[in-house]
Amino acid sequence: MGSAGIGGTLRRGVASRVARSIADALAHPKSVKQLALLPDSNNPRLDLQCRNMLCEKIGKPCICRLATVLQQMTSLRSLLLTGNGLEDLPDTLWALRELEVLDLRDNQLTMLSPRISELESLKILKLSGNPRIVLPSESLASMRLVTVMM
Ligand SMILES: [Zn+2]
Repeated sequence: MGSAGIGGTLRRGVASRVARSIADALAHPKSVKQLALLPDSNNPRLDLQCRNMLCEKIGKPCICRLATVLQQMTSLRSLLLTGNGLEDLPDTLWALRELEVLDLRDNQLTMLSPRISELESLKILKLSGNPRIVLPSESLASMRLVTVMM
């Protein structure tokens, strides 16, 4: 994100639209346009590490929290989940009718739900780095995707 926000007001506006953690997202769930949960040295997968005692994935990457957060993010256009070790995706994802970009690279996904076609605004889908993934080819063929990166 380059030099767009020079004025203080502008910068605040931009900040509220891009969330880089689940806590950020929950601060303004309905106005966030991009949620980027990208593990790096400052944020090593902790956001998606399960803390739910009732979940079989406790301590591992999990979609418990993400599922709840996405339910509230009605304006989300871009969801970046690269490199989080995810094995599945939350069902709440399929309700994001404004989502245009979905980046799932470098996870451990084994399947992509045919419900992907419910994302009627989706233009860019990135899936490379999920070596065992099985794709719903009929659903994907019915979509107007500009890019599917495998
Ligand atoms: Zn969990």
